Amino acid sequence: METALITLALGLALGLGLWAVQLRRELAEARAQLDRCCAEQEEQSENQLEQHHALLDSMTEGVLVLNRDGHVEMTNASLRRLFSLEEDPRGRPLMEAFTLDGLSALVAAARESGELRNAEFGLAEPESRQLHVNAICPRRAGETPQTILVFHDVTRLKELENTRRDFVANVSHELRTPISLIKGFTETLLDGALDDPKKSREFLQTIDKHADRLSYLIDDLLTLSRLESGQLALNRQPTELQPLALRVHDDLRAKAAKRSIRLETDIPDGLMLDADGDRLQQAVFNLVDNAIKYGQPEGHVRIEAQPNGRGMAEVAVVDDGPGIPTTAADKVFERFFRVDKARSRETGGTGLGLAIVKHIVQSHGGRVRLESEPSTGSRFILSLPLAVKTA
Ligand code: ADP
Repeated sequence: METALITLALGLALGLGLWAVQLRRELAEARAQLDRCCAEQEEQSENQLEQHHALLDSMTEGVLVLNRDGHVEMTNASLRRLFSLEEDPRGRPLMEAFTLDGLSALVAAARESGELRNAEFGLAEPESRQLHVNAICPRRAGETPQTILVFHDVTRLKELENTRRDFVANVSHELRTPISLIKGFTETLLDGALDDPKKSREFLQTIDKHADRLSYLIDDLLTLSRLESGQLALNRQPTELQPLALRVHDDLRAKAAKRSIRLETDIPDGLMLDADGDRLQQAVFNLVDNAIKYGQPEGHVRIEAQPNGRGMAEVAVVDDGPGIPTTAADKVFERFFRVDKARSRETGGTGLGLAIVKHIVQSHGGRVRLESEPSTGSRFILSLPLAVKTA
């Protein structure tokens, strides 16, 4: 009996022991599985975080997140670049990290209203920029929330807006002047001057001159707009410069003769450019036309050219006129800029000739520059690609 009890007790103890071992093994397995799950989740959220950071860093807009105390919690790469931040501003108060007048007020307004607020700021350093900043404070019940600020760099947009505004103002002015002259002279004729044949002729000639000016202006505006919008597709092919220069001379010979100006060329035979012949002729025409208009009466205007040894040719239009002050050397290529306003108007100038030249040359992958000093004449130089020689 006693032996049987002992055997039973031993059996029970052994069973319990085995069960405990089994339980421990299962527990260990469950723990290992739980650890694996946690590690996976951790990895997943780390991946997600990395993805969010990569996404934020790839944005062109700057992003700044402030914590509930108004300290910097997160910035993206664009924002750090915009403000040239060398150190990570995390943990610093807003106004210490970003010295922009009015930024705290924008944050306060966004926090108070709980709605999107925006404002424009001028950034002076590291370089002058115009910023448009959106601020939002997403609210959760019972919490003082974070503030998210998005910085848009609108400098280029503002510049384009100003250029467009200036352009419209300039065009209106350029159109108004000949139109009011035409109107004035027509009224004078209708008021009685028509009965005086000498005056009638004189006034009609003036009207004709200003109508021409309007027509040149509209032609130049259309050309410029087509060039700028890329509507004028270039038809580039090997183009010989010498005959092109002679065609320009033929077109302008009568005009040059009126001022007793001699037209000359100094171009190597067979010099071939990779160019759209019509566009190039237009650019050379505008330069020679200017050289005749502004050059020295009884002077010389020459078209020169030579290869520069780097696959390009330098084509120059040279005159011995009054020249252009060095301070105006870049400005002359801007639309409507004139050094000599009176002379430009008197000769029917539109103020767009050199802007057109610049566009044509740039669309060929070339460059235009001016070498000039007062009283030594002007030299406009176009660098244009040479045609590739085929064997
Ligand atoms: P415009 O129709 O007035 O000639 P352009 O764009 O062709 O306009 O030229 C801009 C200005 O540059 C002219 O108004 C003139 O004052 C100056 N300019 C251009 N070419 C010459 C030149 N060869 N010599 C002196 N001044 C020049």
